[in-house]
Amino acid sequence: MEVRGEIACDDALWHDVAVALATPVAVQAVAEGSAVRGVVVRGTLTGRIRAACRRCLEPLELEVSDEFDLLFDPKTSESDEDVSLYALAPGVDELDLSTPFRERFLLTVPAYPVCGEACRGLCARCGANLNEGDCGCRAEERDPRWRPLQGLRSET
Ligand SMILES: [Zn+2]
Ligand SMILES: [Zn+2]
Repeated sequence: MEVRGEIACDDALWHDVAVALATPVAVQAVAEGSAVRGVVVRGTLTGRIRAACRRCLEPLELEVSDEFDLLFDPKTSESDEDVSLYALAPGVDELDLSTPFRERFLLTVPAYPVCGEACRGLCARCGANLNEGDCGCRAEERDPRWRPLQGLRSET
């Protein structure tokens, strides 16, 4: 059985979640197995989120993509600590995948998104965004004992 669809940005699934979706989350999956043997659901979840760079605090959009392999096991009564294992209640002929999909997607969202590996962040002194240029703080951090010498040099 093939599962294909989208979870909308305003779906009830995301209501109490601290992640801001920029696009719906696309789902593509294949389910195999039976209620007796257990069901394996394999596929991908892809969407984009809005976040702020953890270094410079600028807003950014980030693609979040997860390849999952979920096992719905009739021999398990409780979902395992391992997020890819779920209980499969006997007699159920339709899997509710919304909660597993939500969990998987949220786990894939990076805790420390950055706008780029080269992001220089904010100056710890004045808070200026260092990606936009030097704020000049570093010059002030020079050893004050050399100041008179610097003055001499600039005069000549
Ligand atoms: Zn940044
Ligand atoms: Zn500064």
